[in-house]
Amino acid sequence: MRFISTRGHAVAVGLTDALSAGLAPDGGLYVPESLPLLDPAAIGTDADLPSVAARVLKPFFNDTSLDSQLVSIAEASLDLPLPIRPLTDRGASWQIELFHGPTAAFKDFAARFLAECMSRIEAGGSGRTILVATSGDTGAAVAAAFHRRSGFRVVILYPDGRVSPMQAHQLGAFGDNVHTYRVQGNFDDCQRMVKQALTASGPSGRLDLTTANSISIGRLLPQISYYALASLRIGRQTGRSLNVVVPTGNLGNALACILAREIGFPIDEVWLATNANRTLPDFFERGSYQGRSGLETLANAMDVGDPSNFERLAWLFRNRDLRRAGIYAESISDEAIRACIQREFRDSGRIACPHTACALEVLHRIRDNGDDRPFLVAATAHPAKFSETVQPLIDQPIPMPESLAALMRRPSHATPLPPEDAALLKVISRD
Ligand SMILES: *Cc1c(COP(=O)(O)O)cnc(C)c1O
Repeated sequence: MRFISTRGHAVAVGLTDALSAGLAPDGGLYVPESLPLLDPAAIGTDADLPSVAARVLKPFFNDTSLDSQLVSIAEASLDLPLPIRPLTDRGASWQIELFHGPTAAFKDFAARFLAECMSRIEAGGSGRTILVATSGDTGAAVAAAFHRRSGFRVVILYPDGRVSPMQAHQLGAFGDNVHTYRVQGNFDDCQRMVKQALTASGPSGRLDLTTANSISIGRLLPQISYYALASLRIGRQTGRSLNVVVPTGNLGNALACILAREIGFPIDEVWLATNANRTLPDFFERGSYQGRSGLETLANAMDVGDPSNFERLAWLFRNRDLRRAGIYAESISDEAIRACIQREFRDSGRIACPHTACALEVLHRIRDNGDDRPFLVAATAHPAKFSETVQPLIDQPIPMPESLAALMRRPSHATPLPPEDAALLKVISRD
């Protein structure tokens, strides 16, 4: 399988080169030249995540040096608990809990998978710097995945004051080969700085930079596997295809769900639940895409005004009408997030993080419209990660998972950085 750039001005490369580069040299994002079509029936409905992933990702790994290691990569990285719980008060509805990894958000799956791949690709190399812009959760997941892996340095940029106190503590709590910077700007500034540094240094640049953001194809691919697994398990029970609601910011997680459908898994509609950042809902309403700067909301890991993976989505549907592709988007206000967290807790005892609440609210509206088809909600973070928002709403302490508690006990440090491209280049060439 070859990977090409969404912008069409870079040579096609194999997966390992696409993983190493992060961003394509023309500034575009790597996409598979064509999509494989899989036979879901060939995968047992009892298969666990590493075995589903090995089957689903196989065509993308063909002809690469990692091909023969795919099973062990999947086993080493995707062996996290993955409960799929029925939401019995919502008809044929389920929630897939993607937050039982070391940093309690879904990004652990893909970050760990990418780290396993990169360690094998780079073994014996001269050292690489992984640059990450984070709106809160990516940075911690990538730091946890690469922490103390020899040959890697991780540089994290996060928007100062715009992540939760617990997220900020987590981001600075790794140390060793992880360097954390708090940028005096918003997430879009952080993302622009990373992209600029990657383009400026080039694939063979002296700094040997890459990224582990969702612009890396290695972040996107492994996420396909949990949607594939859920569609098989729930499909066995319902005999119907699954509709999915995904809390959405940069569109990485939801795009993986759309890809799972495109490669043949029994998924029908994909609903993007955004916070007050309306770029995607506006696109689906009006048909023109207008990136803008991100607004601050309670679901801060989705405070994205110009979702980078839209470029991949548009490329994927370049010959079709994206607005008639079974993809829907709905924006949820902070007020509705609060009301949803309270309602879920009151009605069923469920404690939702603000991101998951966006998706639960979308499901609530879908059910209110009389739609009774099977639906899955992606629960993207553990509510304890956002206790300063959630706890006052439900008036209950939220037990913290042990992995989070351990990070919170460590000291934390982040260096301030102005939101300027030159400032980043200066620190990465110096450190
Ligand atoms: C990153 C994140 C999201 C948004 O995911 P995207 O892939 O950027 O759309 C949603 N919820 C949580 C908890 C996150 O950390």
